Amino acid sequence: MEHATEQNEVEITVAAALAGVRGRIAKAATAAGRSADAVTLVGVSKVQPPERIEAALASGLRVFGENRVQEAAGRWESLRPLYPDLQLHLIGPLQTNKVKQAVALFDVIESVDRPRLAEALAAEMTRTGRQLPCFIQINTGEEPQKAGVLPADADAFIVRCRDEFGLQVVGLMCIPPADEEPSPHFALLAEMAKRHGLSGLSMGMSGDYEIAVRLGATHVRVGSAIFGTRLQK
Ligand SMILES: *Cc1c(COP(=O)(O)O)cnc(C)c1O
Repeated sequence: MEHATEQNEVEITVAAALAGVRGRIAKAATAAGRSADAVTLVGVSKVQPPERIEAALASGLRVFGENRVQEAAGRWESLRPLYPDLQLHLIGPLQTNKVKQAVALFDVIESVDRPRLAEALAAEMTRTGRQLPCFIQINTGEEPQKAGVLPADADAFIVRCRDEFGLQVVGLMCIPPADEEPSPHFALLAEMAKRHGLSGLSMGMSGDYEIAVRLGATHVRVGSAIFGTRLQK
């Protein structure tokens, strides 16, 4: 009884937050002359307690982002069979020794950022016949500690991923520096994608997803604004 009441409260809180985020996405899309349907909300569930994830599932959210393969496997391998329309996006750095597990678990890989990884992904996808859509992560802020290919290397890398490795590249992804105005980074990503005829743009998080939508985001990755503050980083 006690537990049921608590879960109820979590469900109400998450449902309200989710509705708020969806509403703001729709508003930002409309203001930019875009359709709200053109933006996929990726709920970033990393490090969130199971009851919040269950609440989001109960509210109809089906696209989730995780940044660690191991954590995602622990969480989703049991939930996955219950939600056939679930879509899991890998949004964090991927080590080549986790490629096999990642290709088996995820539906979209958003963090392709180096030739060795692209090659390993392509080989595993060929081996298993699971050709997953991929985003190439661009380090638009050129931050040394951050994953992603540098803007100067991006054009050649995108071409290699498609033509040499045969990956199904659907778009670009970026995480702007935390302490900078995100718009120039979003605009740069959009321009790069356009140059390569890529329609997917994964950009925008809890603090800036409306700006990202105005600048053309097709995927926004929103965690804390839906699920609340993460317990740890
Ligand atoms: C954690 C994370 C997010 C979500 O961050 P919030 O600020 O909680 O919305 C989005 N993208 C990536 C790559 C992340 O690691």
